[in-house]
Amino acid sequence: MKVPIARTSLTLQEKQSVLEPLHSGWLVQGPKVKNFEEQWSAFTKADHSIAVTSCTSALHLSLAALEFGPEDEAIVPAFTWVSTANVIEHLGGKVVFCDIKLDTFNIDIELVESKITEKTKVILPVHLFGLSVDMVSIVKLAKKYNLLIVEDAACGFGSMYHGNHVGTFGNAGCFSFHPRKAITTGEGGMVTTNDATLAEKIRRLRDHGAAMTDLQRHNGARPYLLADHPVAGYNQRMTDLQGSLGSAQMDRADDIVFERRRIAQKYDNAFENLDWLKTPLNKIGYEHGYQSYACLFEPEVINENSVSRINVMRNAWMDKLQKDGVSTRPATHAVHMLSYYKEKYGIKPVGFPNAYAADQCSISLPLFHGMKEDEQNFVIDKVLEFEL
Ligand SMILES: *Cc1c(COP(=O)(O)O)cnc(C)c1O
Repeated sequence: MKVPIARTSLTLQEKQSVLEPLHSGWLVQGPKVKNFEEQWSAFTKADHSIAVTSCTSALHLSLAALEFGPEDEAIVPAFTWVSTANVIEHLGGKVVFCDIKLDTFNIDIELVESKITEKTKVILPVHLFGLSVDMVSIVKLAKKYNLLIVEDAACGFGSMYHGNHVGTFGNAGCFSFHPRKAITTGEGGMVTTNDATLAEKIRRLRDHGAAMTDLQRHNGARPYLLADHPVAGYNQRMTDLQGSLGSAQMDRADDIVFERRRIAQKYDNAFENLDWLKTPLNKIGYEHGYQSYACLFEPEVINENSVSRINVMRNAWMDKLQKDGVSTRPATHAVHMLSYYKEKYGIKPVGFPNAYAADQCSISLPLFHGMKEDEQNFVIDKVLEFEL
């Protein structure tokens, strides 16, 4: 048997939904995207949802609309997908990395305050792998220092923090529909916000800066007149082909979240007694969405001296699992260790010791909705088979 790290799971009806815009002829952002946005708002309870081409676009447009620019600094966890930092570079600002906690893989709240300077404009908390950041603490800090919050909720589908969906705490929340995420449109993303003015700004920036969408114009009294363009915007619109696919999956959104949690729970139970494998944190008030099942491989205490030794062991284990038919991945990467950031900011790997450790010692196991019981049992057997 071979079990992939993730597998896209679409129903026949979801696949066929893509044909509707092909038949109607309306392919670009239109009624399907609008419908998807409305479903997304209903699901997350955000006031506004704005579909875009990716989570990276969502982050970029949110920051641009908040007028983040070259004089500004943004605080970002050092362990995240690279684009959380890249968007800050795109807008000419400065990335200020902050270390993470190894039990959550999320930003270390205790350290955030020490990173705040006169130039700090935004905090970008990342709800990594579907576990919410402690948003009460982030919001409190933002209020104290008058900072903006853009949540990277790329992995946050179904992730709750004290009963509220992630992406609804900051000025904006950004989601991804890449196939590695729980809902997919191939490529795609969504911004959520409760700020009507910001929502309108992001809608315009996504659509060449137009004051009116094509759909509004076509359905309006004078479809023959073009819209005005009050700002120099971008083209980061989602197509209706994607909107249709996303929309169709939202009809079983709750089932998808439920199934991912059920699979995670089974892993949790199976690995309960493995003291060398730290499974994702379960904490009251933090309902995990399990975009992935990211564990920490910790055969001995992780510190500066042991980390490279543990990394060699982890890689050997991953190699064995791959040969056995179980696909795994490091949970994600430490951005400060990637060439661009290493060179530009001159940071040593141990500059952020926990991000470095997470980069070297984490392992994600296969988890996806549509995973069959015998597939999961196979993964569990192969993990339990391992001897240090
Ligand atoms: C997947 C991911 C992104 C990027 O999402 P895209 O839709 O591929 O642009 C950003 N941040 C995090 C934490 C992610 O996991």
